[in-house]
Amino acid sequence: MWTLLSQRWRARREAAALARRAVPDVLWRRTLKRFPFLPQGEAEGEPELRRLTSLFLDAKEFTGAHGLVVSDDMAVAIAAQACLPVLAMGLEPYNDFVGIVVHPGQARVRRSVADEVGVVHEYDDVLSGEAVQGGPVMLSWRDVRSAGPKATLGYNVVVHEFAHVLDMTDGVPDGIPLLPRDIDRNAWVDTLGGEYAAFCERVDADHDTALDPYGAEGVDEFFAVASESFFVAPHTLIAEHPALYDLLRRYYRQNPTTRLAGRAPE
Ligand SMILES: [Zn+2]
Repeated sequence: MWTLLSQRWRARREAAALARRAVPDVLWRRTLKRFPFLPQGEAEGEPELRRLTSLFLDAKEFTGAHGLVVSDDMAVAIAAQACLPVLAMGLEPYNDFVGIVVHPGQARVRRSVADEVGVVHEYDDVLSGEAVQGGPVMLSWRDVRSAGPKATLGYNVVVHEFAHVLDMTDGVPDGIPLLPRDIDRNAWVDTLGGEYAAFCERVDADHDTALDPYGAEGVDEFFAVASESFFVAPHTLIAEHPALYDLLRRYYRQNPTTRLAGRAPE
């Protein structure tokens, strides 16, 4: 009885949100054209992506930094790309945060670290995006905007930051998100850890890698970088890391190589 009532209440609330935040056809078409790695057509899950995009827009708050005005085009561009990783999961993994701060370009932040003898060193870090536990998610609009042309390089700042959000669903950014029941945690740690170690060796030896060498910074970054490539340049990822591709395919419950098979070459 209670379940039925809460289901009805949820369905009503969702219908109201979808009506409030419906993405106009012209804007939606424009977004798919700008970011051609997004699902197109019913078989690829485009209607579900559009539905999630509206719910995301309704649930999240966008703020422009340094005087940037976040237009509808910008909000939809961010929302649609953020919903891509959770296309088969729904928005629940994103429930822990509300705010999205959009900077015009890369943001410079002051960092300080203490070395082993306790001396604090300050330095500037330049960020295209940042995700912290509980939010907000920070994104550079210049980087978000260039996701179409940069897809061939496996680069996608929105997928990267939202992969970090997923990673933190179990509380720690360690490359291990809250896993579905059909994925064994030890198997995840073994596969991701093995691929990460091999990747770091290649990066240390200055070999070319399919994935951004930034992924060698830590296993959490490796998961985020691999997720970017998984969604926007899956053929490149599968060629060098077939086991990792398979792991991500099972986690995200999507198969981007099939989706992008008929599109322009990566
Ligand atoms: Zn990162």
